Parts: sequence; C-alpha cells; structure tokens
Amino acid sequence: MKVLENISLKNHNTFAVNVNAKYYVEINDEKSILELKDFIQTINSKILLLGHGSNILFTGDFDGIVLSIKIHGIKVIEENDDSALIEVGAGEKWDDFVSFAVNSNLGGIENLSLIPGTTGAAPIQNIGAYGQEVKDTIHSVKGIFLDTYEKQIFSNSECNFSYRNSLFKSILKNNFLITRVFFRLKKNPGITTSYGSIEKQLKDMGKNLNKLNISDLRESIIKIRESKLPDPAKLGNVGSFFKNPSISMEKFLQLKEKYPGIIGFEADDKTVKLSAGWLIENCGLKGFKAGNVGIYEKQALVIINYGEASGKEIFDFSKLVKEKILNKFDVLLQEEVNIH
Ligand code: FAD
Ligand code: NAP
Repeated sequence: MKVLENISLKNHNTFAVNVNAKYYVEINDEKSILELKDFIQTINSKILLLGHGSNILFTGDFDGIVLSIKIHGIKVIEENDDSALIEVGAGEKWDDFVSFAVNSNLGGIENLSLIPGTTGAAPIQNIGAYGQEVKDTIHSVKGIFLDTYEKQIFSNSECNFSYRNSLFKSILKNNFLITRVFFRLKKNPGITTSYGSIEKQLKDMGKNLNKLNISDLRESIIKIRESKLPDPAKLGNVGSFFKNPSISMEKFLQLKEKYPGIIGFEADDKTVKLSAGWLIENCGLKGFKAGNVGIYEKQALVIINYGEASGKEIFDFSKLVKEKILNKFDVLLQEEVNIH
C-alpha cells in the first residue's frame, strides 16, 4: 500500500475536473484500512472516500487523504430454491456485478444495467433507474467507521434507504467506509418493463413481450442508455445533477393549471414527483451553454463539462439553473451529486 502525494484527481472523477489531492491511497482490503490508521491520525486531515467518481463534483483541491476503494470479489455465499445471497467487494464495478447476476439468471438489478460506479457506492444514494432501486435487493452493508475504526454490518432496514438517499449519504456521510455489500437476488425473477421507453425498445429489438427474460431487459436498457446518455469518457458528466423534486399535490395542481404539459408522478395521495428534466427543458435550457459548461442536448438533467471547466464553473452554472427553475416554477431543485 503506497500513499501518493499531490495527485491530480482528473482521471478519478467523471466530470474530469482537474483538482489535486494532498494524499491518495488505494484500499484493496479491510486490513489496509487498519494499517493506515496511525498515518491518518498523524496527518490529522480530512478523509474522502472515492469509488469511480461518477457522482462527485470537486470545487477545489482536496486538502486531505483520498481513500480510493478497490476491494474486489463476487461470491455466492448461500442459495436456496428461490434466491441467492451474494457478497460483493465495494470496489467491484457495479455493471460487472449486474452482468454476473444476469448471466447467472439472478434477478432484481437488471434494470440498473450500465449505471457507472462501484458496488460500494450503490447503497449511498440507493441507485435507481427504470423502476428498480437497489434497496430492494440489498440484504446488508458491511464497513468500518472512520472515527473509531470499528466494524459494523447494517441490515437493510437499518440503512434508512429512501429516494436517492440513505444513512450513508446523510448522518454517516464520510464517516463509514463501505467494504462489502450483500445482495439477495431472485432465481425466478419477475420483469419490470412498464417504465419509460423499455417496451418500445424491446419491440424495436424484435422481442416477444410475452416471452422475456432478464437478459432481454439488460440488453434493452443498455441500448436506451447508450443512445440517450453522454459517455463520460468523451463528455465529462455525473448523470443527473439534480434529484427529481417532490411537491404537494396542491402545488402540483396549481402548476398544472398554468403549465398543462407538466410531468408529475403521484408518489402518494399528497405528494407528486416532478421530472426535473422537464422543468429544465421548459425553461429553455436544454442544450444551453455558458463557456465550458452546458446542459446536454439529449437529456436536460445532465450538466456537461465541454472542455476544461473548473469545478467552481460547473457549480456556478448549476446555481444559475436552480435560480431559473425557482423563478419560473417556484420549485427548488436539490443536487443529487456530492459536492466537495
Ligand atoms: P463516487 O462518485 O466515487 O462517490 C459517490 C459518493 O459515495 C461520495 O460521497 C463518496 O464519498 C461515497 N462513496 C464512494 N464509495 C464509498 C464507499 N465504499 N464507502 C463509503 N462511501 C463511499 N445514479 C443512479 O442512481 N441512477 C442512474 O441511472 C445513474 N446514471 C448515471 C449515468 C451517468 C452517465 C453517470 C455519469 C452517473 C449516473 N449515476 C446514476 C450516478 C452514479 O453513477 C451513481 O451514483 C454511482 O453509484 C456512483 O458510484 P461511484 O463509485 O462513482 O461513486
Ligand atoms: P425518462 O424515462 O425520460 O423519465 C423522466 C423522468 O420521469 C425520470 O426521471 C423518472 O423518474 C420519471 N418516470 C418515468 N416513468 C416513470 C414511472 N412510470 N413512474 C415514476 N416515475 C417515472 O427518464 P430518463 O431521463 O431517460 O432516465 C431513465 C431512467 O434512468 C430513470 O429512472 C432515471 O432515474 C435513470 N437515470 C438516472 C441518472 C442519475 O444520474 N441518477 C442518470 C440517467 C438516468 P426517476 O428518475 O425517479 O426514475
């Protein structure tokens, strides 16, 4: 294990923002975290936990130590007729795990195909797409507290999962290093095709909608995502910059009167989830650029680094977007991305 000094994080965040970390070290197993304890206490500096950096915006240099999580391994540890319990190292690429699950005909995460990032970061914001959320397959989350270096396993219900949030993104933020995640996946999985354009895509692929398997779902979602979302290797981005806002039904009905085309999904009798992408598009911002930063022309929720934008430039641009949405719709957007 080697601690590097003054390292550029440009290749460690998908916005490709060029900032430096004072210290940087790769964590390959639980043992190395404990070996680092004395060093971390000596330098007495802040700690940042990093996966693939696909949900982080650095607004300046990081004057502390970055722990880059590289703990590997995918292991089926228990099986019965209905399901399998699988242990996955936090540093495993998320989509490699989805591919493993689909190839083993284990269902529950196929709609989460092609989401960038590591498996250890998946519980942080309870990743979700196309009608599936990772919370529905997580059995438990294992890790180490960074203040006491004690190990802990949180059961699913203890993780406080909610829409793009969890215990780890709220009260335990930056204080609990996830080392392994345990998933319970189904052997005879049901299939969710009702979301967005999945059914259309499956038909275009010549699939019989009555005879689908989870591989068909994975294939269709990969096709949709590749056609709609920018590849971070070519255009710096972190996917959705903002969360879809929840508002009261009363406020939604008022907005609907003024803007009949507004998109809202009823969460319950009292709450409606708005499409943040629709709000941004209907402020005329889709495709809008200011300097090196802009809104992606195919997906209004995605902010793009078109060149060598600094994190501060991206952050200022996002504030402008928020201001315009607030002025026009009286809705305050909240960032989904983690800002450092
Ligand atoms: P990072 O960006 O490295 O870290 C994210 C946060 O988690 C940080 O606060 C970090 O400190 C913390 N963290 C990372 N690893 C650990 C660990 N082991 N222990 C404790 N804390 C840790 N998200 C969705 O939910 N749905 C989508 O459909 C989706 N699509 C995307 C599409 C694109 C093109 C992009 C670029 C991003 C998309 N995202 C999506 C966002 C992102 O992929 C996910 O949030 C992903 O889980 C982030 O993983 P990461 O390893 O890159 O995390
Ligand atoms: P879309 O299919 O055009 O839908 C637009 C929005 O409407 C989405 O945000 C989605 O909310 C919501 N929605 C669509 N159908 C819904 C339904 N049946 N019930 C409830 N809500 C519904 O979305 P898109 O932008 O192409 O993205 C497709 C999926 O990938 C979405 O689930 C989205 O969350 C996910 N995605 C996430 C990121 C990220 O970084 N977080 C980036 C790209 C795509 P939800 O977002 O709540 O699902």
